[in-house]
Amino acid sequence: MTSSSPIVAIYPGSFDPITLGHEDVTRRTLRVADRLVIAVAHRATHTKEPLFSVDERVDLLREVFAGEPRVECTSFEGLLVEFARARSARFIVRGLRAVSDFEYEFQMAQMNQELWPEAETLFLTPDVRYSFLSASLVREVARLGGDVSRFVSPSVLERLKAKSGAGR
Ligand code: ADP
Repeated sequence: MTSSSPIVAIYPGSFDPITLGHEDVTRRTLRVADRLVIAVAHRATHTKEPLFSVDERVDLLREVFAGEPRVECTSFEGLLVEFARARSARFIVRGLRAVSDFEYEFQMAQMNQELWPEAETLFLTPDVRYSFLSASLVREVARLGGDVSRFVSPSVLERLKAKSGAGR
């Protein structure tokens, strides 16, 4: 990498939906990278049934980061390292909240290193206010009619309300 080439990072995940924790990690990444590609993975995740479709999740990400020209929001299929390579990204960003995240994240980082040795995984910890926050908890609380306004952006809150209302 020459000193003039922009530092591009990829932040992959489910983002079902994007929370203030993800936003915090994004802001922190922009302190060390020139550009960030937030990429929704087209794959079954920890959840059996996603709340938002991949396209809806990408739309929500775009709304949240509409004012941030250094952030691009998209989705990808297949191997993350192949996507990262195609986008000339050298950093894979992941958030670490607690020890419970560690084992899975560590395994994945090492596998990605095997698959593409030049790629580095950058782990960032969020502000302590978001260290307990997960998208699955937000989905669960919203589904049960709880107030999640402190955990997501207003546009996400609106869509969550629409979904929960439709589900009742
Ligand atoms: P995945 O299904 O890949 O875990 P998520 O959307 O749940 O997708 O999370 C994407 C990344 O963001 C993961 O590295 C996860 O640890 C991180 N993350 C999720 N919530 C938070 C949070 N509140 N603070 C910091 N990182 C987070």
